[in-house]
Amino acid sequence: MKDTQDGFTNLIGGEWVTAGATRANINPSDTSDVIGQYASAEATAVDAAVDAAKAALPAWAEASPQLRHDILDAVGSELLARKDEIGHLLAREEGKILAEAIGETTRAGQVFKFFAGEALRVAGDLQPSVRPGIDVAVTREPVGIVGLITPWNFPIAIPAWKTAPALAYGNCVILKPADLTPGCAHVIAEALHRHGCPPGVFNLVMGRGSTVGEAMVTHPDIDAISFTGSVATGHRIAETCGRLRKKVQLEMGGKNPMVVLDDADLSVAVPACLNGTFFSTGQRCTASSRLIVTEGIHDAFVDELTRQMQALTVGDARDPATQIGPVVDAKQLQSNLDYVALARQEGAEVMGGDRLDLNKDGFYQSPALFLGTTNDMRINREEIFGPCGSVIKVTDFDAALAVANDTEFGLSAGICTTSLKHASAFRRRSQVGMVMVNLPTAGVDYHVPFGGRKGSSYGAREQGRYAVEFYTAVKTAYIAA
Ligand code: NAD
Repeated sequence: MKDTQDGFTNLIGGEWVTAGATRANINPSDTSDVIGQYASAEATAVDAAVDAAKAALPAWAEASPQLRHDILDAVGSELLARKDEIGHLLAREEGKILAEAIGETTRAGQVFKFFAGEALRVAGDLQPSVRPGIDVAVTREPVGIVGLITPWNFPIAIPAWKTAPALAYGNCVILKPADLTPGCAHVIAEALHRHGCPPGVFNLVMGRGSTVGEAMVTHPDIDAISFTGSVATGHRIAETCGRLRKKVQLEMGGKNPMVVLDDADLSVAVPACLNGTFFSTGQRCTASSRLIVTEGIHDAFVDELTRQMQALTVGDARDPATQIGPVVDAKQLQSNLDYVALARQEGAEVMGGDRLDLNKDGFYQSPALFLGTTNDMRINREEIFGPCGSVIKVTDFDAALAVANDTEFGLSAGICTTSLKHASAFRRRSQVGMVMVNLPTAGVDYHVPFGGRKGSSYGAREQGRYAVEFYTAVKTAYIAA
């Protein structure tokens, strides 16, 4: 199916171009496996992409919604049809286990199909003015050229959920994926190219955040930036965009609480916490990293969670028996191990959290559970972004809610309970964007809004019909007959 040159090259103005140096894309399950060389562009590639997007924008902004629908729909169909093959690439470049990688690819396909439909539904309204003889038309227009900057941990879903609405609503796109995972974004570029996306409408520029990302954020002709990644990078981007009066949307980290009340069903709570805390190697912004457990169920919950955690199989992401894949790279692995050491220093009892040697040169560690922790410890304040969870014992629901909300983040929060009263109170009083009842804090649908509050998110929501807010500008026209 590949119709590009060898390796992963940038797509600018409808041409596959190699700009700057090439860098190796490495498999974290087995570092001797080099997936390919990708073009790591310089800032000048962003200038070229912006020029191409500027040339393409007038026609694309006025293109028939049917054309936009057909391209997005075809891309969605292709991703769904090739989900196993693309999922394999995803597992290979990010280390997400195969079942999750295929699931993520499926979701990316569904996102394209969803926004194919939305392209046909961009509605405005017409109302009478308060002044006689005048009509008021409220319409939505594309924002213009949007820069999309994405992280490595959902290397196909996040580029999809930014690219599809941007194109559906008539914007031109410059996508910069994370440099650890360029291959999946390249798949999207290939599919758009193959299915007739006009030259310059979608541009892929791979490279470092400090060169390509920075050049996008500061470029005067990029009208909006949608960013997903770390808090530190997000805050810098927000400051720059504020100074340049550029529209900006940020999705950043989390320190997501999962409350387990005395009345919880352990057969629900333990799998939900196991999944939320450790699956995807804990590398999810929505990971359940703080398990806040009331005292009556604490010991039974910890015993069962520990038992199930220790039974998890860590291994090569492409092995169907693997439940926990590798950490994405050496830097992240060292950071996780440093947090395990910090947990000990802060007085936690640590289960697991060891570097694993699996007779293969990969970045493996065993899942870690920190017991006997308090919410003021650094391990409970900072996002670790690895397979590490803390247990915080509390007296009752009110104490649990207070601890859950006592964080700078506000992405997702969960509760395991059989009490409708407590589930409802938690839903109302959690200071987050997403609440889960008897479900892991991670694991979201593609057709409803995604995002958080406080330090986790900034700007309009992503996904579902709410995406229209970021990717369009509203115009109010007064028309006297
Ligand atoms: P990161 O901030 O290091 O990088 C994200 C992207 O920003 C990459 O493409 C990177 O190259 C780019 N970048 C880096 N420096 C830049 C700069 N100065 N200017 C412009 N772009 C720059 O994050 P990461 O390590 O790739 O991803 C992990 C983080 O992402 C975690 O904190 C996680 O919680 C967060 N995340 C959030 C969500 C969400 O929706 N809230 C989803 C997934 C991941």
